[in-house]
Amino acid sequence: RAKKHLGQHFLTDENIAKNIVDGLSYENYNQVLEVGPGMGVLTKYLLEKDAEIFVAEIDTESIAYLKSHYPKLEDRHFVGDFLRLNIADSFEGQVSVIGNFPYNISSQILFKIIDHYDRVPEMVGMFQKEVAERTAAVPRTKDYGILSVLVQALYDVKYLFTVHENVFNPPPKVKSGVIRLTRNPKEGLTGNEVLFKQIVKAGFGQRRKKLSNSWKALGIPEELKTHEFMDKRAEELSVADFIAFTKLWKEHS
Ligand code: SAM
Repeated sequence: RAKKHLGQHFLTDENIAKNIVDGLSYENYNQVLEVGPGMGVLTKYLLEKDAEIFVAEIDTESIAYLKSHYPKLEDRHFVGDFLRLNIADSFEGQVSVIGNFPYNISSQILFKIIDHYDRVPEMVGMFQKEVAERTAAVPRTKDYGILSVLVQALYDVKYLFTVHENVFNPPPKVKSGVIRLTRNPKEGLTGNEVLFKQIVKAGFGQRRKKLSNSWKALGIPEELKTHEFMDKRAEELSVADFIAFTKLWKEHS
């Protein structure tokens, strides 16, 4: 019955569902958006919290099920396809995001959240383990890359726990990981976001190469061509290094 093209794997373990829902702090905001509620295994516990719950679901069968089982969810709480949702226009104020996400759109979900970080103070979500690890990764590891740096520039990331395949129906092919993002925009980033993204993406574009090489196509400012980072590789730079270097680049271009 699960629809593969919608990334449907239903969680069957109530304790894990509770733990995911308890991962949000419910502080300083009163709206929570659940992405992909399915049959409501998380929704049930969310509705016990002191917050207004919104759900983004595209499967009509799941929507009908949620409407009949959770009358607390009114029509206006259903916001449709998360990828088409305009977070800024659809919510007044702050809205935290939670979900056992459809894995086929994991990175799109993460990028959408960081694009709206001014509206999203917190996120707790389940991804395939590899994506959760890449988001939480630290420098000088194989998982550290574009996703780690772009997310961690705006949020503190905590890897909460791993979830085994066998607690889903149907079981996915890989393990899952639950992470929490807590908004904390790093100093020096504001105003330089576009250039920052370019520098990070180009830096990791050829991760085996020295940064002098990876950044060449961006047109490195003359004054920075002898900077100590030029001989390094992207995975050696911290998030703070990338931000500081972006600032320098801006000043010299
Ligand atoms: N939360 C449920 C659970 O834990 O059992 C279901 C999780 S299942 C991994 C992912 C859910 O996301 C499915 O219910 C699927 O229909 C829904 N979904 C897929 N694409 C979506 C999208 N673009 N926007 C909102 N929901 C989506």
